[in-house]
Amino acid sequence: MLQALLSSHRPLGAYEIIDELARSVPRPAPITVYRALDFLIGNGLVHRIESRNAFLACAHDHDAAAMVAFLICERCGSVGEIPASTMAQSLGAAVRAAGFAPKLSVVEITGTCAHCQKAA
Ligand SMILES: [Zn+2]
Ligand SMILES: [Zn+2]
Repeated sequence: MLQALLSSHRPLGAYEIIDELARSVPRPAPITVYRALDFLIGNGLVHRIESRNAFLACAHDHDAAAMVAFLICERCGSVGEIPASTMAQSLGAAVRAAGFAPKLSVVEITGTCAHCQKAA
């Protein structure tokens, strides 16, 4: 499962993961895939990209609770990941100052990746 995600440089939807897995093993049931994804997300091995309803393997060895920012390329669909703890601290402080209890753990930034900028 993780391998299927790692082999892709863009986030995969649950059904794309199933298709990927079905190449090497008997087609898994969606519920099995969702359970496995929950487990991997809980362990910080996979991130969920909310806006795309897709999943991305995390190649970085960071704290599961650490805040990260995803850089989503609008041209090729690739997703990069950068640590965002400094931003998380100031954002968290601003959120708490507004009297809100934050649950947010990811930030998504859309734009153009370095590769696509060169290609332009
Ligand atoms: Zn990560
Ligand atoms: Zn790109």
